[in-house]
Amino acid sequence: MEFTVLKKDKITAARLGKLVLAHGEVDTPCFMPVGTQATVKSTTPEELKELGAQMILGNTYHLGLRPGIEIIKKAGGLHKFMHWDRPILTDSGGYQVFSLADLREITPEGVTFRDHIEGSLHTLTPEKSIRIQQALGADVIMVFDECPGYPVDYDYTCKSLELTLQWALRSRKAHTDGSQILFGIVQGSVFKDLRKKSIEGLEEIGFAGYGLGGLSVGEPKELMFELAEYTVGIMPADKPRYIMGTGTPEDLITQIAYGADMFDCTVPTRYGRNGTVFTPYGKLVVRNAKYKDDHRPIDEECGCYACRNYSRAYIRHLFNTGEILGNRLGTLHNLYFYQDFMRKARVAIREGVYERFQKEFLDRFGKSVEAGNKE
Ligand SMILES: [Zn+2]
Repeated sequence: MEFTVLKKDKITAARLGKLVLAHGEVDTPCFMPVGTQATVKSTTPEELKELGAQMILGNTYHLGLRPGIEIIKKAGGLHKFMHWDRPILTDSGGYQVFSLADLREITPEGVTFRDHIEGSLHTLTPEKSIRIQQALGADVIMVFDECPGYPVDYDYTCKSLELTLQWALRSRKAHTDGSQILFGIVQGSVFKDLRKKSIEGLEEIGFAGYGLGGLSVGEPKELMFELAEYTVGIMPADKPRYIMGTGTPEDLITQIAYGADMFDCTVPTRYGRNGTVFTPYGKLVVRNAKYKDDHRPIDEECGCYACRNYSRAYIRHLFNTGEILGNRLGTLHNLYFYQDFMRKARVAIREGVYERFQKEFLDRFGKSVEAGNKE
């Protein structure tokens, strides 16, 4: 694995890079669609490739429960099981244990919890999380961590961070597969001194890249941006910096300017399958009645499969009648929109005009929520 920063923007901290992984190269900044259950909901791997996805996310917590690691191992790993031959990143399951499971009991050893499906009792430890991720065979795997919610007090965050650093060290020791790289996760909630301490502790252990966790967990947006800018600014400059789980188009465009390289979020897929689509002029709720006789594509500038072939009126009709093609077209459009603006962001960094690109994008995108109409 190799990470190279190819160009740094002179005005913002944005940077262009290349990440070479076991299953291929990834241009950064990049957006990874989320494939929680070994599928990016309602899309095929061929469609994901066509719309430009270079790397996707898988989920240790969910896949460890269903279908279970033995079945994926027998299939030859997650890539073969889901028929995706480009890079995959798996998270450690830490975030899901804290956001989905019941009856969590945290001990120095790990976390015991009841799963959200059958309510059975499980224990996840740093070693077990790494073992599962090694069996899944992703290109990038993550340390097991505790992600405190918001709001949380300073004392609790201190203790949590101490435990998370111990778990990071144990994750590092448990990681033996040289074809995968392991990222540390920066925690510390809203406390800048703890964010700094977290980075120092992780750097001492040494990781191939660093995730920024514990953002977008309920804190106000301005605070989220402030923390992201501060923390990304002090994360190691020669390693990939991955902001975990934040991802409206505004979030991404803004955080690229802080120097972040990798992103993932369920926003494009979740919104798309519910009939909210993104355009350069903001969000458009295509299932609304006002589009029933609108025969233009979702976005006239978009080159995606949905916009090349279907109208707002048709897609609105699909949503209105509960036809699953509607969910698919909404998803395909949104994923294309995300990959397309990441491509444009990379071009802007390469050409040294990122600040102007960012301003123009945000000005246009923020004009009106329903302004996809340009009326
Ligand atoms: Zn489109």
